[in-house]
Amino acid sequence: MSKPSLHKRVIEIKPIDVDAKVYPRSITGYFQHWRWVFVWLTQLVFYGLCWLPWNGRQAVLFDLDTRRFYLFDLVLWPQDTIYLAIILALSALALFLFTAVAGRLWCGYTCPQTVYTEIFLWIEKLVEGERPKRIKLDAAPWSAHKLAIKSAKHGLWLALAFWTGLTFVGYFTPIRDLLQEIATLSMGPWEMFWVTFYGAATYGNAGFLREHMCKYICPYAQFQFVMFDQDTLNITYDKERGDPRGTRQKGVDPRAEGLGDCIDCSICVQVCPTGIDIRDGLQLECIGCAACIDACDQVMDKMNYPRGLIRYSTENAVTMKASRSEIIRRAFRPRVLLYLAVFLSVSIATAWSLATKMPLKVSVIRDRAAMSREAADGSIENSFTLQLTNASEQTRTYSVRVTGLPGLRLAEEHEITVPPAAIGDASLVLQLDADAAKPGAHPIAITVVDVADPQVSVTETAKFWMP
Ligand code: SF4
Ligand code: SF4
Repeated sequence: MSKPSLHKRVIEIKPIDVDAKVYPRSITGYFQHWRWVFVWLTQLVFYGLCWLPWNGRQAVLFDLDTRRFYLFDLVLWPQDTIYLAIILALSALALFLFTAVAGRLWCGYTCPQTVYTEIFLWIEKLVEGERPKRIKLDAAPWSAHKLAIKSAKHGLWLALAFWTGLTFVGYFTPIRDLLQEIATLSMGPWEMFWVTFYGAATYGNAGFLREHMCKYICPYAQFQFVMFDQDTLNITYDKERGDPRGTRQKGVDPRAEGLGDCIDCSICVQVCPTGIDIRDGLQLECIGCAACIDACDQVMDKMNYPRGLIRYSTENAVTMKASRSEIIRRAFRPRVLLYLAVFLSVSIATAWSLATKMPLKVSVIRDRAAMSREAADGSIENSFTLQLTNASEQTRTYSVRVTGLPGLRLAEEHEITVPPAAIGDASLVLQLDADAAKPGAHPIAITVVDVADPQVSVTETAKFWMP
């Protein structure tokens, strides 16, 4: 297959009536099934995970008070924020990767804005009815009936938005404590603020802003086209097959009538949550939800035409009439392979680092008051403070060993016990015979070992000072 010599991408930006309300028509089908699978999956994780107990606490908790992040068995401390930064970087990389392969996959299936809009729309349809009923209700003058329906819808929206805000804050304050605080009206001002803020954002974004958020506010929507190329999968209307559009009787040969396969029923426009006509070409407003594919496939089935007049395809595939296997082959192009290689390497390295992470951190702080002193028996002493961070969830007892100079010893053997997820301090006095080393600083190693599990061991370096 030859490559086009010149690639020119045209993304159409049309003037849009921002006040025109979109009333998406319900649709079922293969892609809508997957959209709902993702709605359920993401919401089960979001609403459910904060209730999962783990080792006597919440499985996932970003405890800002104690500055500890709990992720199942993993306890992250402020000095581990590098892992959070890596997770964010990996998320961005995954977004680049999926966008390069399949365009707005994230927008269409898993973006919270899309997911909550879908849920809010589902409530709207449940209360107000299908598209024609909703249009009629909005056009009707205010009455007790209309007020009751609108109140029911907004009541349900607000309840869901409030629960969403509460769940969000429940990842930063234990959710059970939060409920207790609500029941006893003792919620702190910051928690109250964030529950209200996140709840109001959900209500406003999913209930009112909806597609405007994707069109005008979301920064990802604005720059994602930079990541597109001729082999990126997009929702595509097959103009060559569909045009000229026009109505016709079922069973009539469209070619004989001088028509394409599009019967101009506009159902693809009616189901579109952003209210666009995909037949006008790739548009900034298309969130890649594939509702128009399902809608058009149903029309094609009714007309006994082959499915796929609107389908996932690439620019190259449309212009070159590439087969499905050719589209898949071209998906693994250098840019995608590079994203994939970086993503996999960073993921594996991070997973390995987390899996082998020592649940102990040691800081050795030299006694600033005196570099060294002479003990009663004539030996030289250096004093340090050991700061031990027990990053596990069990109480641990540690012993200390010193090496690096012949005859170097602890003035007093002792074990240090540190409670779970806590920091313990201990003073450490090291001794060396006065004639055992020359004057000056000598490098030494201080090793802290878990008495019950010698695999947990950290060695830090320090200097022993001889006068
Ligand atoms: S649903 Fe299909 S047939 Fe109907 S207008 Fe859209 S593209 Fe044409
Ligand atoms: S054009 Fe199709 S894929 Fe794009 S937003 Fe509208 S319905 Fe979804």
